[in-house]
Amino acid sequence: MKAAILTVPRNIVERALQITDSAEPLASTGRVLLKVRACGVCRTDLHIVEGELKPVRERLIPGHQIVGEALAGATDEAPRGTRVGVSWVGGTDGSWPYCRRGLENLCDSPTFTWYTVDGGYAEYALVRSDVVFPLPESLDDLEAAPLLCAGIIGYRSLRVAGVDKGERVGLFGFGASAHLALPVLRSWNCEVYVSTRGASHRQLAASLGATWVGSENDRPPVALDRAITFAPSGDVVVAALASLRKGGVVAINAIHLDRIPQFDYDRLLWGERQIRSVANMTRSDAREFLQIAGEIGLRPRVTVFPLQQANEALMAVKSDEINGAAVIVP
Ligand SMILES: [Zn+2]
Ligand SMILES: [Zn+2]
Repeated sequence: MKAAILTVPRNIVERALQITDSAEPLASTGRVLLKVRACGVCRTDLHIVEGELKPVRERLIPGHQIVGEALAGATDEAPRGTRVGVSWVGGTDGSWPYCRRGLENLCDSPTFTWYTVDGGYAEYALVRSDVVFPLPESLDDLEAAPLLCAGIIGYRSLRVAGVDKGERVGLFGFGASAHLALPVLRSWNCEVYVSTRGASHRQLAASLGATWVGSENDRPPVALDRAITFAPSGDVVVAALASLRKGGVVAINAIHLDRIPQFDYDRLLWGERQIRSVANMTRSDAREFLQIAGEIGLRPRVTVFPLQQANEALMAVKSDEINGAAVIVP
């Protein structure tokens, strides 16, 4: 099969991925073989390709937002021929202390799609059968792919921030994840305040129904109940914190932050404001979010790249050229 392969992490402009022939994965017990129909590109892919997250294997196939057709190893939930999705969490151990408390996103020995097992920048992928989710029929392959990490984790961020219906919610940064969270917030009658770099991102936010849109240096005109930050920047976290009412929450939707700068506790955190990180996802986050996505007709903006151009797709994500999400098609 054709696949994009990472051996030595380096700057993406040096074309870190080799697009080449690779052995097809072999079906095995507890695994489903998928014929990949589309695979979303996530910023985390870039962090691993460029070595900010150290690869744990010598040879990796990226991609953890896989839409595929179940072939060998199909299950009752996903019989042969069904279209399913796979996300970043490729498996958990199901044991104490976290999985049995309903906190499988914090599992001590998780499997991560494409980090610890191969992902979906390929014609076929082999995944654990307990982490595949049937997809709403109303979404086509390209529309479903970005929902599988950006969408699910964006949704978890709303949950971690404790968003209630009708609240004022700030989104700091407006990429793949935020543009999927905004319509969910609108369906809950929330007012959404978007602060982001780039005129095209601000236009997209306005067109999706944001109440207020500003640049990365503008502050929302009202005190926010909740804020979610999407940039790998601690300055943005402090800016979000400074926009909260007492008792408000900032949820950080980033797997990696540059650092957290020093800030004034008395003015910014006192008053029971909270900062929380968002780690991974649970299978129920995935199921809930995919159901909501089907109900509200969530339609991601996508830019399509053929597998041959996987490097270009990552470069476009890095330089922030994509409005919405990038998707690779094998
Ligand atoms: Zn991701
Ligand atoms: Zn566990």
